[in-house]
Amino acid sequence: MTTTVRVRYAPSPTGEPHVGNIRTALFNWLYARHTGGAFILRIEDTDQQRIVEGALEAIYDSLDWLGLAWDEGPRVGGPYGPYIQSERKAMGIYQEQADQLVREGHAYYCYCTQEELEQMRKEQQRRKEPPRYDRRCRPLTDAEHKVREGKPKVVRFKTPLAGDPITVHDIIRGDVAFDPATLDDFVLLKSDGFPTYHLACVVDDHAMHISHVLRAEEWLPSTPRHLLLYQALAWDPPLFGHMPMIFGPDRAKLSKRHGATSTLEYRDQGFLPEAMFNFLALLGWSLDDKTEIIPREDMVRYFSLERVGKSPAIFDRTKLEWMNGVYLRQLPQDKLVNQLAEALDSYIQKHQELVQVPPSPDYLRAVVPLVQERLKTLNPQEVWDLCSFFLVELPEYGEGLTPKGMAPEVTRAALQATLAILQALDSFDAATMEAALRPLAERLQLKTGQLFGAIRLAVTGRTAAPPLFDTLAVVGRERVLARLAGAITKLSDETRP
Ligand code: GLU
Repeated sequence: MTTTVRVRYAPSPTGEPHVGNIRTALFNWLYARHTGGAFILRIEDTDQQRIVEGALEAIYDSLDWLGLAWDEGPRVGGPYGPYIQSERKAMGIYQEQADQLVREGHAYYCYCTQEELEQMRKEQQRRKEPPRYDRRCRPLTDAEHKVREGKPKVVRFKTPLAGDPITVHDIIRGDVAFDPATLDDFVLLKSDGFPTYHLACVVDDHAMHISHVLRAEEWLPSTPRHLLLYQALAWDPPLFGHMPMIFGPDRAKLSKRHGATSTLEYRDQGFLPEAMFNFLALLGWSLDDKTEIIPREDMVRYFSLERVGKSPAIFDRTKLEWMNGVYLRQLPQDKLVNQLAEALDSYIQKHQELVQVPPSPDYLRAVVPLVQERLKTLNPQEVWDLCSFFLVELPEYGEGLTPKGMAPEVTRAALQATLAILQALDSFDAATMEAALRPLAERLQLKTGQLFGAIRLAVTGRTAAPPLFDTLAVVGRERVLARLAGAITKLSDETRP
């Protein structure tokens, strides 16, 4: 019998989704699309203390940005809703299961207060024992429960005290065995009536007919507990697969220390969703161990759980930047111009004082082909840094005016000769300028690289810039001549004894 694939992404709205978290969403989405199954979004907001305002929107925005549309869930509905756990709690869904587990002897009420639990933990620490609930409410008799009626209570699961190992048959990791003696009597329902993650997750995965639970490796220790719950509720468990961890380049768990960790930060830093999608998909999955640039349709076509690895994936920002550059260069020219214009615009709005040559769409269309090879992101600052010398009257000469190995005198003479030649030209197109200036190097007994380097520095203020003559053509006759004249004056001042 073939089962329909139904997978879910079940984030908690506790902050902006981490890239690792969205990688989980992405793998679930890919698996659903690859198999023709359903991708379900469920919001796990039962830990009310940890809810962060705006986090829900950030989850939706992250998924929208990467084009990970869900088939069932908030905003779109579906046959097994609601898909937000606090709404399900209000319907009494988890309470019902908790009551049933107590009734059938799989769970019990526990009245221990925070202070008692704290005390218990301290004593265990002192005895160098692992901290865990000592099960003191487990043997309470009916009469003993009766006298505690009205006291705040939680529902705890009766974990087997001993017995055979609990084996998780993990799709990615193979069999992983857990000794039941290491599991404590975990809480199912809190005193405020909210379920814990364990209860809510199992109840909902069952209710929503989830076929495969694909989640991060950090949840693996929860899985034996979930299996015990499925058993107690006499439900068939879904299949489980735990995705590999994500490390920074230093092989430590990815954290703020490594830079941005929220998916939306990457959006705001000017990364393209296509590039981020490709990059995240390769964090733990590979097509063939070598192909890096994989179009989305191919990912959907070839994605398989067999090719999801066990060992940690490395989040390498340099690789992401490279990949983003590849995707940027693949953008249709018009789209790239629009995106660049948008990025520049947002920079310009905040730094009006820096712009002396406001870019018209036509001017930008001429600039884009020149900078696009060097572009890594659409980050406004980066775009500005690449293009700024096109948008000011005079560039900054932070790198000086003399190319390496050339004396200021020689540079000044070379620029003077250049100015004279360019002034005399009728046409200011790249080919004409190049034809006129190439012979000059020889006449001045300079290498072409030296002469062109001097011109580049004078016109752009940089040693590395787009192709020289195309740049001159776009900067335009008037400004090029003014910059050359300005540079000559500066050099004269510097060389005056
Ligand atoms: N709410 C959990 C999280 O925030 C979901 C874990 C799971 O997928 O079971 O990641």
